[in-house]
Amino acid sequence: MKRIFTNETPSHKGEKVKIAGWIDGRRDHGKITFIDLRDKEGVAQCVSTPQQAETYKTAQALRSEWVVEIEGTVQERPQAMKNPAIATGEIEIAAEKIVIFSQAKTLPFTIDTNGYDLNEEKRLQYRYLDLRRKRLKENLTKRHTVFGFVREFLSNEGFIEIETPLLTKSTPEGARDFVVPSRLYAGKFYALPQSPQQYKQLLQVAGFERYFQFARCLRDEDPRADRQPEFTQLDLEMSFVEREDVMELNEQLLIALVKKLYPKKEIQEIPFPQLLYKDVIQKYGTDRPDLRKDKNNPDLLAFCWVIDFPFFEKDKETNGWTFTHNPFSAPKPEYMNDLMAKRNIAEILTSQYDVVLNGMEIGGGSIRNHQPEALEQVFEIMGYEKERIQANFGHMLEAFSYGAPPHGGIAWGFDRLMSLLQSEQSIREVIAFPKTGDSRDLLMQSPSEISEQQLKELHLKIETKSQKKS
Ligand code: ASP
Repeated sequence: MKRIFTNETPSHKGEKVKIAGWIDGRRDHGKITFIDLRDKEGVAQCVSTPQQAETYKTAQALRSEWVVEIEGTVQERPQAMKNPAIATGEIEIAAEKIVIFSQAKTLPFTIDTNGYDLNEEKRLQYRYLDLRRKRLKENLTKRHTVFGFVREFLSNEGFIEIETPLLTKSTPEGARDFVVPSRLYAGKFYALPQSPQQYKQLLQVAGFERYFQFARCLRDEDPRADRQPEFTQLDLEMSFVEREDVMELNEQLLIALVKKLYPKKEIQEIPFPQLLYKDVIQKYGTDRPDLRKDKNNPDLLAFCWVIDFPFFEKDKETNGWTFTHNPFSAPKPEYMNDLMAKRNIAEILTSQYDVVLNGMEIGGGSIRNHQPEALEQVFEIMGYEKERIQANFGHMLEAFSYGAPPHGGIAWGFDRLMSLLQSEQSIREVIAFPKTGDSRDLLMQSPSEISEQQLKELHLKIETKSQKKS
């Protein structure tokens, strides 16, 4: 007999079925034992009585979280026992055969609550058990549904999904790189991508015109409570567009997504308000304003765009110019002459647009400098020597010299968006295997040491602090 899921059982009344899963609970009532069996779809109640002596004995031995398979006949529950709150609440399965696949130790914590009150380090250490929790199952399932929706929407708009490398080269995107030592090339390193920024632009030079990817991004930043060293972006890039085109497409996608998958949520204002950086800073003291009219309503979504950011700001350490968002951005068209003349640098506005939801930045992007001379000016303003520009960005400048279309894009912080849509406080609640706020993987116990042999192969020597001093 083929195994079916618990949610399919009500449509098999009077028939024999086979289900499998975890023991969610067992209750003995005199001469009858109830077993709740849980699978990925939910829970179904099974009953066992002494008429089936062998099965009854097995049923009585079952403990929580044992993994079993149960065969039996689906029957209507007595009227008083019906439970309209669950999908299988009208029926129960009269167990005829029980196979035990595995037994289980007592779990380190309960999994039948939402889990918010539990010690988070414990939850992360036993994440595979924590993930048995209904709330987390729902979060990850919804995340999958959102992936699917976005893929379909963008595919219908002519985008294709293209993967880009994880082993790449250090790029200046404002954060520290994670680096990977090369075994084959002593003393050389790959960098893990802070984002697919350069590759997605190169895909525009290659003529793909509309690219997207659910991209894993890695940034070695100092710990912050709700940050992850690796996170997921919805990354996209388009050719022959202006700022408004990219904003419009993303706004439509966000609206469609909320309407279809979160019908209970209300978008406060459509079209999304577009606010100027200088105004929001003045009015709210932040460039991520929380515009919700009622902050107690968990179903209210106040999206807005923030635009017209300054391109450059003074670097506090060096007192030279640095970029505020993305060195590959183009200025707003009316500031191109200033950029090319390196004039009025503090006044140059970038084509950057950030999308903010309930006080959180959930995405950002820009129109790029597709002319090599303009990109070069940005690096020169930041004080990079010609050789450094060539060494770091020679490939981009060269690529743009073979016919580059005007292009622009955006990336969404996908984990953050999911946490807001799922009304979760932390992005860790919507990631299957997150790290702690201070970047440790408590389940795998990473970071960890590697063997002497591995170090040798990688041409690395570990210098401890005390050795360093001497
Ligand atoms: N690569 C940028 C980021 O990670 C997003 C973009 O400009 O497309 O913030």
